Amino acid sequence: MTRLLALLILTTMTLPALSENPVAIAIHGGAGTIERGNLSEAQETAIRSALTEAAQAGHRILSEGGTSLDAVVAAIVILEDAPEFNAGRGAVLTHEGTVELDASIMDGASLAAGAVAGVSGIRHPIEAARRVMTDSPHVLLAGPGANQFARSQGLEFMDEDWFITEFRAEQLRAVQARQDASMQLSEDWFSTVGAVAVDRHGNLAAATSTGGMTNKRWGRVGDSPIIGAGTYADNRACAVSATGHGEFFIRHAVAYDICARVRYTEASLADAAHTVVNQVLTEAGGDGGVIAVDPSGHISMPFNTQGMYRASIDAQGQLDVAIYADD
Ligand code: ASP
Repeated sequence: MTRLLALLILTTMTLPALSENPVAIAIHGGAGTIERGNLSEAQETAIRSALTEAAQAGHRILSEGGTSLDAVVAAIVILEDAPEFNAGRGAVLTHEGTVELDASIMDGASLAAGAVAGVSGIRHPIEAARRVMTDSPHVLLAGPGANQFARSQGLEFMDEDWFITEFRAEQLRAVQARQDASMQLSEDWFSTVGAVAVDRHGNLAAATSTGGMTNKRWGRVGDSPIIGAGTYADNRACAVSATGHGEFFIRHAVAYDICARVRYTEASLADAAHTVVNQVLTEAGGDGGVIAVDPSGHISMPFNTQGMYRASIDAQGQLDVAIYADD
């Protein structure tokens, strides 16, 4: 009898642990023409360590029972502060040499979403996007109004100079020197940042933050703050964050298309993500990649470029940091 009671108590105690959802996180820091030898050893080390730090920060929250929303924000703020990536500090420059930032976030449990486009001075645009989701009745705020909203929320602002690195100033000079009067965006390497995660409750979240594309003008906005294009999360399917030539991701609703295939067809996450990136996007002529996670903790990170800065910590707790296709 006592033994039976002990067994019962033990079973009840272990049940919640058994029913917990596996946690997983994936992050990206952009995709593009990233060949071995293009990066100096110091650059590669800085990139790998920022990716590792961001993945671990998000994973720590997940393994302590925190939410996927907190995890993706924690990962992104680290990458927004890291000057190697095109988000927050170190973002690419507009045609006029200024910084205009875009970010978005989505909660897979409720389909709540928030985004900002063309903001400036906000240290962590991802936090502004989150406040749009949680503290406004809207999904997307743009330009001066979005800045004003961020100020009203007490978010941290920095001087424009803080965001601008010499590397991005040089990149703008190079792009402008090789472009004709039509001023097309010409980019062969993107370094937007993103994160997707699933938490212990099986809730998914996705988030993306970027400076857009070098030499952009006329208030150009890419896919990153567009829900369904650069970011999407739905507990019934998956969470996706994209990087690449935004115009193509908007036209093909890339993030939503992957989730819709998972939800409405028999496709696995890996099949859906691979088809959309390597067939739909590639046939359309768009360059880039995505990171995606499903409620069971499966991770998929396809790209059609030479490399994609990426890191993940899977359901088994395994950390993987990679840059090149054959990494
Ligand atoms: N997708 C971003 C945009 O088009 C660029 C990037 O991924 O770096 O704005």
